[in-house]
Amino acid sequence: MKTKSQISHILTEIARMYPDIRTELDYETPFQFLIAVILSAQTTDKQVNKTTPPLFTLVREPEDIGNLSLAEVERFVSSVNFYKNKAKFIRQSGEKLVHEFGGIIPNDLKKIQSLPGVGVKTAKVVLAVLYDAPYVGVDTHVHRVMNRIGIVKTKTPEETDRVLEKKLTHEQKLIIHHPLVLFGRYHCMARKPKCESCPIREMCDYGEKMFKGEE
Ligand code: SF4
Repeated sequence: MKTKSQISHILTEIARMYPDIRTELDYETPFQFLIAVILSAQTTDKQVNKTTPPLFTLVREPEDIGNLSLAEVERFVSSVNFYKNKAKFIRQSGEKLVHEFGGIIPNDLKKIQSLPGVGVKTAKVVLAVLYDAPYVGVDTHVHRVMNRIGIVKTKTPEETDRVLEKKLTHEQKLIIHHPLVLFGRYHCMARKPKCESCPIREMCDYGEKMFKGEE
């Protein structure tokens, strides 16, 4: 397991690699961002960005979703995986936001998780992006990277989420969500991680093994 100072060093290096990018999902309003994150489960951000423009011309705020029937929302999002469930969640979330939260996405982990289709990962991603809240949304990339490096030893993203919640400092959570997701997508990929050019290889359990194998 890594020490606090090793974790700090590792996260600083990863944050340095992706200093400016906040999210790869396209959106203009907070509700559009929530919709995009709901659609992005089991779907690439690229596919979501191809799908959302026609829907977003009609839907900017939660109250707008009530102008569309469920069948219409389904048609707009039919190119993404599990679109029927996602369309239902988008509609129900919009209605709940209007009726219970005054049309505003709540800056509160428990409240936002009460929206249909919003689990802990989605909730943390939305809060991190919209409110700069101190949360790391643990997707499969973050789960894989944290285990490879040796910051956690866990079996599921949910377990990784719980361990990181305790292990990372408030300041680390504030800055590391976006860099970690991008690091997992483009550097420490599932199939061919770029260990040979990785700035944290000597601190990474997986990278260290690979390095020793080359000697
Ligand atoms: S050394 Fe390899 S496995 Fe470790 S973080 Fe870097 S790219 Fe990922």
